[in-house]
Amino acid sequence: MSNTVDMARLMSKQLPRHLMAFLVGSGVQGANNGFQVYLVGGMVRDVLLNRRPGDPDLLVQETVPTMDAAERFAIMLAGTLGGSVSAPSQFGTVKLDVDGLVVDIATARRETYESPGALPSVRPATIEGDQYRRDFTVNAIAVDLAPNRFGTILDHAGGVEDIEHRVLAVLHDKSFQDDPTRCFRAARYMPRLGLHMSMVTETDLRRSVGAVAELSADRVRHEMERMLAEPAPEQALAHAEDFGLLNAVLPGLSWSPAMTRAAPAIRDAGPLGCLALLATHLSKEDAAKFAERINAPAQWASVIEDTVTVRERLHELSDEGLTSARVYSILGGMASEAVRAWAVLTEEEVTAGRLRDYYERLRHVHPALNGDDLLALGVPEGPFVGELLRELLIARLNGAVSSRGDEESLVQRRLSA
Ligand code: ATP
Ligand code: MG
Repeated sequence: MSNTVDMARLMSKQLPRHLMAFLVGSGVQGANNGFQVYLVGGMVRDVLLNRRPGDPDLLVQETVPTMDAAERFAIMLAGTLGGSVSAPSQFGTVKLDVDGLVVDIATARRETYESPGALPSVRPATIEGDQYRRDFTVNAIAVDLAPNRFGTILDHAGGVEDIEHRVLAVLHDKSFQDDPTRCFRAARYMPRLGLHMSMVTETDLRRSVGAVAELSADRVRHEMERMLAEPAPEQALAHAEDFGLLNAVLPGLSWSPAMTRAAPAIRDAGPLGCLALLATHLSKEDAAKFAERINAPAQWASVIEDTVTVRERLHELSDEGLTSARVYSILGGMASEAVRAWAVLTEEEVTAGRLRDYYERLRHVHPALNGDDLLALGVPEGPFVGELLRELLIARLNGAVSSRGDEESLVQRRLSA
């Protein structure tokens, strides 16, 4: 199968010219300096799937394997093509930035996992050995960039055939156990790439889900971030739910069909919109546990906590005859994603309307006058300034004042009272 694919032609047809020039240049410079250079990972897969690729991943190997080949190759390449090289990661990978093109460069390596969920220990290896450590066959295809072999495919795991059949499959039955983050990667790739999982792989995955509990908080958060950053995060989350991954992150964490239906309406809220939807089912205690389990940064933690707080206040919003100022005081200060998540999920029309009104209009309302303006109008310094500002805000919200002049008259009345 793989030898029937004219990869060089596909690449030159699908990749932007500057990217193609970079890949050809990398192969030439590699050959001149004793490195074998391969294009690997997502870009190879995306070219074969005829999809717009992300940034390239390169793999390098020397005749005598060492762990720092990637770094030395990147420095050499930066010297000839221009660009800057990051410090190497703990696995010896580096990032090369050439005019905004960010290239991940790795030394061919093998990995050994001491225990499920732990980071691996690594040692240099051949390209074939490196392919074996990869997550899925479709991501384990390497393309030789050497000038005399440019475009030759190395596909020991059968990834090209799996791409043709749209199959997502692991390379060996310990894969998910070794690295449970691959379970989350599967949930992302299936909807994005339109792949279905082989039965054997699905059985392995479902058997390994418990190992997610061994992952560190930062690794779980990173996987959540990547799911939420997908073009359709709700579909990745629906797979994560189906696999039992969310429940493995935190018992009780779940994603429902109603959330899937609601998600597109808050797509423009960004990744935190779906995070809020995910938190709508949680109790107060579980929300705190969830934030802790993923070592949530402050903004994430507020979105999670506020989503639960807004739920507790929903019944107040359904009260007929509520003033805008009252709606403001119920929802004021809540993360906007929390308000929006409930606005799209709530079926009760009055409540949903108030949530929308707060999000679209009320939260932007401010008095025209500020503290300095009040002092200039003769208001004495002290707590009265704050009281008057609050009164002005309430008058604005309820429509009792609508201009700077109205506000000044209100202040004058209060001063002469
Ligand atoms: P994306 O389009 O999401 O960027 P990608 O395939 O380029 O997809 P990266 O996370 O950039 O994904 O990783 C590059 C390559 O490194 C992958 O294609 C895969 O071969 C390998 N890889 C990344 N993470 C893992 C992992 N946890 N286990 C095994 N291999 C991995
Ligand atoms: Mg990538």
